[in-house]
Amino acid sequence: MEDVYLSILKKYWGYDGFRGIQREIIESIGNGRDTLGLMPTGGGKSITFQVPALSRDGICIVVTPLIALMKDQVRNLRGRGIKAAAVYSGLSREEILVTLENCIFGNYKFLYVSPERLASDIFLAKVRHMPVSFLTVDEAHCISQWGQDFRPSYLRIKAFVDGLPSRPVIGAFTATATAHVREDIRTHLALHAPYEVTTSFDRPNLYFETRRALPSQKPKELLELVLKEGNHAGIVYCSTTRQVDETVQLLQSRSIRAAAYHAKLDADTRRQNQDDFLYDRVQVMVATNAFGMGIDKPNVRFVIHYNMPKDLESYYQEAGRAGRDGQPARCTLLYSGTDVRTIRFFIDKEREADNGLPADVKAEAARKAEERLKYMTFYSTTQHCLRGFLLQYFGEAAPKKCGNCSCCLAAEQEAQLQVEYARRRAA
Ligand code: ADP
Ligand code: MG
Repeated sequence: MEDVYLSILKKYWGYDGFRGIQREIIESIGNGRDTLGLMPTGGGKSITFQVPALSRDGICIVVTPLIALMKDQVRNLRGRGIKAAAVYSGLSREEILVTLENCIFGNYKFLYVSPERLASDIFLAKVRHMPVSFLTVDEAHCISQWGQDFRPSYLRIKAFVDGLPSRPVIGAFTATATAHVREDIRTHLALHAPYEVTTSFDRPNLYFETRRALPSQKPKELLELVLKEGNHAGIVYCSTTRQVDETVQLLQSRSIRAAAYHAKLDADTRRQNQDDFLYDRVQVMVATNAFGMGIDKPNVRFVIHYNMPKDLESYYQEAGRAGRDGQPARCTLLYSGTDVRTIRFFIDKEREADNGLPADVKAEAARKAEERLKYMTFYSTTQHCLRGFLLQYFGEAAPKKCGNCSCCLAAEQEAQLQVEYARRRAA
């Protein structure tokens, strides 16, 4: 029997086979079942909804939060000879109309849309005339207040589905697998008996390390860590644009080729610096969390967090950009009490923000952010296996010791010292 999905994979992507749980997800969606696919960043989620969509008639609507990612994906699909289009906030009404008409009459396979656009009248009116086969909700954790980037507009997806002439099969995808987030995805999207497919989030080639450092000690710690890496490529994440600029200067003053990436740089400079990093013209990218989405650089050998991020979801996603080629890589977190206070300051600011959300919704969001920060702080200070801590946080069983993190190594050294001490006393 012909393997339809494999033929599609080979025809459009030229890949030899599916990775890990990709096929399981593809078959579930292909068989018409709502599916929740959980895979770490870089696991290859896109193909798992693109392949079944190509195996059927009709159009697949893809809800995704970032315009940059949307454009990337559409360009990527078109480059493979697949008809794809996108509708997002920057487009004029005319442009949107033309795009939607094309989708109705032009045999398009994929229509990407930002969640804000879903609820607009013209979108709803036009989509009713399209043969919608699948609805894909990418970055589905955005629907959950437990997720690290909650977007209220994701909550409108269900009403959109209810307004369609017939209900498409829904596929939801995320790299955030905590139980709370999964539950919110299932309920807020009203998935029908969804099949849940998850892969291990473990990244055995990554060495995890936490170091406590006062703000005044951090420059020294950072230099030591970077110099130890020789010429290897790495990313340093800082929490503010000012810290990014200062850190670039610090590294450059030691003749380390470093570039900056943050929201205050103009788009051309950002693109230039990103390319320099991708093509190894600079060694170290110093960035805020604005950097990284959709970046697919395989040989990043280290990721250093100069400041503690706001939660473990963010941390694991950013640290996970190290070692995508499967070779050993190092993930170091420098933390201090000041970091915790800074994050708390932002949580409070968000709670007081005049953003149109009701007070109880903001209070609830703040409470959940506090809860995530608590676990981030526990991770930073624990003496137990760091990998174990991360995996358990993402709902996965883990051995007591991994032997490849700073806590396991410290425990080992401690045990050796004890043996040595006992031996000397006995002598
Ligand atoms: P995710 O959305 O899970 O972060 P992507 O869908 O962006 O990941 O895929 C990450 C990379 O892996 C892409 O470059 C993609 O082309 C590649 N990839 C995905 N599946 C396969 C496969 N079966 N064989 C080879 N490469 C793959
Ligand atoms: Mg993706």
